[in-house]
Amino acid sequence: MSEQKKFNPSLPVLLGVMGDPIAHSKSPAMHNAALLAAGVNGMYMPLHVHPDQLEAAVRGIVALNYRGVNVTIPHKEQVMQYLDVIDESARLIGAVNTIINEGGTLTGYNTDGIGYVRSLKEEAVPELAGKRIAVLGAGGAARGVIYALALEKPERIHILNRTADRAIALASDLRGHGLGEISGSGMEDAATILDTADIVINTTAAGMHPHVDDLPVDPALIREGAAVSDLIYNPLETRLLRESRMRGCTVHGGLGMFVYQGAVAFEHWLGIPAPVETMRRAVLNSFEV
Ligand code: NAP
Repeated sequence: MSEQKKFNPSLPVLLGVMGDPIAHSKSPAMHNAALLAAGVNGMYMPLHVHPDQLEAAVRGIVALNYRGVNVTIPHKEQVMQYLDVIDESARLIGAVNTIINEGGTLTGYNTDGIGYVRSLKEEAVPELAGKRIAVLGAGGAARGVIYALALEKPERIHILNRTADRAIALASDLRGHGLGEISGSGMEDAATILDTADIVINTTAAGMHPHVDDLPVDPALIREGAAVSDLIYNPLETRLLRESRMRGCTVHGGLGMFVYQGAVAFEHWLGIPAPVETMRRAVLNSFEV
């Protein structure tokens, strides 16, 4: 983590999240609780930005002296063209979720995949090196997660997707960037791949509210004792996780990914450790209201 940033103490540090829609976002509750707990004079605003106003909104970060913003659906890809610098991993992932304003220079990062891996290691599987990983799904979330997993030097990563071509294309693209042993196929290979996987990660939307009875794959195919992780956090425990837990698997839900992508962004902006447990509690409390 970089050295603590110096700010003018008489002015609040301004942060926010740009998206459309934005009213449902849990990020303001999470980051405002973090700022308070860390004793930082600051505020984090929900910023409703229509796609045709995205460029003006990004210019506004500098004009209004925001320290930084998060970027969410549908702006994560489009925003890249308006930034001065794109971090290498965000360029490879093809999406930015965090912007830092360093004296008028805007730099884009992607903290989703790194946040996911930090959550997985802290909450379920401390060591990923040498592991055989199966990833279900080949969309935007899968891309960031696989990139960050590959940096941990697993033995191999296999992508299983409903649409086989997308899994094969994503694996080939990431392999081409020297990210190790990454392969892809359709769900017809699920039994073989899941039988030997140490970690199974669902990055599909199957099982997300309101389709809580959906499964991305039959949990009976997963080896007993494997770790099973789901990016979905609504519900906090998906059917995949519930049934895997009952079969003796270690399970890991998606709330931690959301909390840690925010924690990594907070640390980029402020240069101090993020109060992770406060952030987790704030998100959980915002579900209950
Ligand atoms: P996306 O780009 O639209 O990709 C969706 C993926 O899910 C595709 O691989 C798609 O397969 C597959 N899929 C969708 N419905 C399916 C179903 N019923 N059965 C099997 N496969 C299905 O979406 P995304 O942005 O990657 O997001 C995926 C999930 O990650 C969402 O549930 C989202 O909530 C979650 N997520 C969580 C966090 C977090 O902070 N915890 C962050 C980001 C995303 P095809 O290619 O065959 O269509």
